[in-house]
Amino acid sequence: SPQIVWLRRDLRLADQPALYAAAHAGPVIPVFVLDDEAARSHAYGGASRWWLHHSLESLAKGLGSRHSQIVLRRGDAVEQLCEIARECGAGAVHAIRHYEPWWRQAQGKLDEALPDGCELCLHDGNYLLPPGAVTTGSGDPYKIYTPFSKAMLERFPPRDCLPEPETIHSPDKWPKSDSLSDWGLLPSKPDWSGGIADFWNVGEQAAHERLAEWADDVAQYDDERNLPSRDGSSRLSPHLHFGEISPAQVWHRLSGRRGQGWRTFEKELIWRDYAQNLICQFPDYPSKSYRDGYSGLWRNPNRGHIIQEELEAWQRGMTGYPIVDAGMRQLWQTGWMHNRVRMIAASFLVKHLLIDWTFGEQWFWDTLVDADYGNNGVNWQWISGTGVDSNMFVRIMAPLSQSEKFDAADYIREYVPELAEFGDEDIHDPPDHKRGKYPKKIIGHREARERALSAYNDAKQG
Ligand code: FAD
Repeated sequence: SPQIVWLRRDLRLADQPALYAAAHAGPVIPVFVLDDEAARSHAYGGASRWWLHHSLESLAKGLGSRHSQIVLRRGDAVEQLCEIARECGAGAVHAIRHYEPWWRQAQGKLDEALPDGCELCLHDGNYLLPPGAVTTGSGDPYKIYTPFSKAMLERFPPRDCLPEPETIHSPDKWPKSDSLSDWGLLPSKPDWSGGIADFWNVGEQAAHERLAEWADDVAQYDDERNLPSRDGSSRLSPHLHFGEISPAQVWHRLSGRRGQGWRTFEKELIWRDYAQNLICQFPDYPSKSYRDGYSGLWRNPNRGHIIQEELEAWQRGMTGYPIVDAGMRQLWQTGWMHNRVRMIAASFLVKHLLIDWTFGEQWFWDTLVDADYGNNGVNWQWISGTGVDSNMFVRIMAPLSQSEKFDAADYIREYVPELAEFGDEDIHDPPDHKRGKYPKKIIGHREARERALSAYNDAKQG
């Protein structure tokens, strides 16, 4: 009987356990359902929709060249999958497990709702180890990264990768499908043809090409990853997010390269598993602070504070701090931001501007091509010190000295054209009289630091 493969953030043909199992059990019906309701504030953001469009297009092409296709449906995933299962007399729905709360809920409902004779088969495949696989000595999930990471390393290697199925048989009759172009995932505004579209190649093949191109650089990762002016990190994040490549594939491709660069990179990959491990424990983590004593800390329009102008200055890269502005403009132009600069820009929002981190989380959610429920939420809480892990609030990053320390001059020249002609001595902190059209600092660093620390102390006492 036909086997449905429910595709979500796993848009690949190789090392795709759900597709692999389905292809060995019968004719395959790959299905993607676009549900704009279930995820509420975490429905696909603008940049993610752009990526999703191209990723689905690429997957459809890949399936087409294997005499298969993808069925696109819009609406409630459980209803759509049940309808297809009934229509085609499907024997099973195969899917890779996902842990976003709306998908966990759908997985649970689907299990109940599928017609008799059609079973739900969930597979692991998008993490180095299945979330929940490592626990503390007393059997609890970890809350802190370092012991989590240690326990993961003790359990490695991750599972072996699966090949692409040799053949993907088609069903006798295909269920009806929407047309991708009718979904309107590509925005008419802004026009990203000069930015995001030039910066990225989307799809499974592109992911493997990027990995191959970058593989030798892992040796220098430890030295280069913090330097925004260099191409020192893998830029695999959107490919990993959409599952165009699996972390196991990345691990196995690179793990032969012993050395500090690889060891540091492996730990970053583990951060991705760690974030998911927290989401499994605390499903609302990306929208709710988990540490007491913070509720009164930030200026927040819900409590009558006016933050709009400053929030917009941050979003548009007009704060007067070149490293922050370069990062925010890189984000807008390319849908991605260097990790070190993400940390600096996020810290600037929550500490220098005293704006609640959830505004930053939502802006990143809308503008990042790698916007990821776990990674984004966990990193925002980590920077803000509001999470279940470290209390980082009092570690206030100094954007000007960070910019010098990590040699961001060329990066600033690239993304802040007003400063393109500035020399190294001025570019990190241009003197006011030389700024021209570039804005003055929105707030002085020392003043911001004192304000943040005193707000923190007041909040703790209150
Ligand atoms: P590399 O340095 O090459 O790392 C390889 C992979 O490891 C990444 O692709 C990513 O999957 C994973 N990884 C690396 N660092 C982290 C980390 N700190 N946390 C979790 N996973 C990590 N990453 C996202 O994928 N999606 C997000 O929405 C996201 N939001 C963030 C928000 C803030 C405020 C901060 C500080 C970081 C955020 N990150 C997010 C983590 C990190 O910045 C990106 O994963 C990284 O910059 C992606 O670039 P890369 O692929 O070149 O990373």
